[in-house]
Amino acid sequence: MLILTCPYCGVKGEETEFHSGGEAHLKRFGPGSSDADFEQYLFMRENPKGVHLERWRHANGCGKWFHAARCTVTLEVFGTYSAQTTEPPQHIRDAISARRPGWTWREFS
Ligand SMILES: [Zn+2]
Repeated sequence: MLILTCPYCGVKGEETEFHSGGEAHLKRFGPGSSDADFEQYLFMRENPKGVHLERWRHANGCGKWFHAARCTVTLEVFGTYSAQTTEPPQHIRDAISARRPGWTWREFS
């Protein structure tokens, strides 16, 4: 069972308390962008066997969106953090590196 903690209200709950919003930290492309960049934004997603950065919403709680870093194999959660960030905070990266040395995810490590 995946257990997440909402970084806003502090509630710790099973994944059924939350709603998954897919991959975190997508770089958005709009009008004027190339077809290749827009295609990348619309269709290409990470699907790792390991560390993944995801968007979640506390659907049965405060209703706010946040990001979570977790392992897709073990369901270990390395931390949750504000959705108002463009990259994972250093303490989350350090937590991942401590448990998964050498990990990378897109341009983050
Ligand atoms: Zn909450």
